[in-house]
Amino acid sequence: MKPFHAYFQSINGNDTYPLDEVIYRSKVDGSLLEVHHDRDALAERSPDEWKKLFAERRMSFKPADMSGVWSKREMVLPEIPEEDIVTLREGWSPLFDAQALAKEIGLKKLWVKLCGNSHTGSFKDLGMTVLVSQVNSMIKRGKPIDAVACASTGDTSAALSAFTAKAGIPSIVFLPRGKTSVAQLIQPISNGSIVLALDTDFDGCMKIVQQVTADNRIYLANSMNSLRVEGQKTISPEICQELGWNVPDTVIIPGGNLGNVSALAKGFDDCLAMGLIDKKPRIVLAQAENANPFFQAYQRGFDKLVPVHAKKTLASAIQIGNPVSYPKAERAIKNYNGIVIDVSEDELANAAERADKIGLYACPHTGVALGALLKLRAQGAIDKDEEVVVISTAHGLKFTEFKVAYHKQELEGISAKYANPIFEAPAELGPVMDILQKEMANRRR
Ligand SMILES: *Cc1c(COP(=O)(O)O)cnc(C)c1O
Repeated sequence: MKPFHAYFQSINGNDTYPLDEVIYRSKVDGSLLEVHHDRDALAERSPDEWKKLFAERRMSFKPADMSGVWSKREMVLPEIPEEDIVTLREGWSPLFDAQALAKEIGLKKLWVKLCGNSHTGSFKDLGMTVLVSQVNSMIKRGKPIDAVACASTGDTSAALSAFTAKAGIPSIVFLPRGKTSVAQLIQPISNGSIVLALDTDFDGCMKIVQQVTADNRIYLANSMNSLRVEGQKTISPEICQELGWNVPDTVIIPGGNLGNVSALAKGFDDCLAMGLIDKKPRIVLAQAENANPFFQAYQRGFDKLVPVHAKKTLASAIQIGNPVSYPKAERAIKNYNGIVIDVSEDELANAAERADKIGLYACPHTGVALGALLKLRAQGAIDKDEEVVVISTAHGLKFTEFKVAYHKQELEGISAKYANPIFEAPAELGPVMDILQKEMANRRR
């Protein structure tokens, strides 16, 4: 048997680097790196053998097996010693059956992959378990790394803090002051990170963190670091496995820095290479109108990325004007017959709240993806015979301010179609019954 092996390779050239080197871009031309796997070694097991192994791990109680990410470890970081893995039981998030909404909009099947049902409440846990495990392994083997740092719109810092705290590694997070939710801000504070709120936006924080990590003793944890992509890509085999190794027709994902859509495509690439699936889904990338540089580039035929000043959006985690993973995302959209679309604040807010009425608890970013679904279905770009998966990127509980303001109808410029006001009444049967009779009749319509 060939041993499993992975290494960094630049997306443009053939320069390669070992995974324990502190490196984020090609030394030749500065292009992004990605993790390459020895596909011959992976192909020595038949698709049926892999499927059997993955099914067995689903029933195991070993920590690495119980993680959705590490249950696919040969595809992720095949050489890491199992005792170096830092896991918080990430992955295996619910695939929510949204058939009630599918019926309303005339669609064959609809699921929502709840990646926010996770330790820190967003999909960022999937990538961070891989990055922190690798750093943990490097430190154990004598690499001089003092801390791990990231710039964040809120969720990356929460994930970094939790995983580094578990591993006992110091961490530093840079947040744009006043642009994250309270729930996002308090997580790294509680987990003991050094927290800096800077008077800038995410793109400004990204610049600072790149300068801080130019000294290799502080390791960069942003998704420019391609280790994160390896964890996030397990969303794709996980969805297929949950669907009995069937492939949905379309997967819709919201994007800001564009690491996650790149990961989604890479996950399907790997599944195809390993023979686990035999067809490609179409990938739809959804942005907020207020922060849509990728949509604009798509409309111009992907001539090039023109960074924009990202305006305020309820989908604060994707308020990004200069996405780092643009080249990978362009490739993902081209390889997966993709569509890029943007949605307004009104559309994303109402889509999230409409979905909540069938039992979801959607964050604004999930609202962006759901809004894209509604729009594309209305346009006929998504056909009624399709099976669709929407990627939900965070838990609604991280965005309570949005939810409260929506239902109080206090969101400027948004007509809250699904607002559900509280009825205040004296504790007396008469007035209570009046309200109940009226409201129950309303809901029966
Ligand atoms: C990070 C994040 C995104 C965007 O992912 P990118 O990889 O930056 O495109 C979307 N939604 C939520 C909730 C996030 O935290």
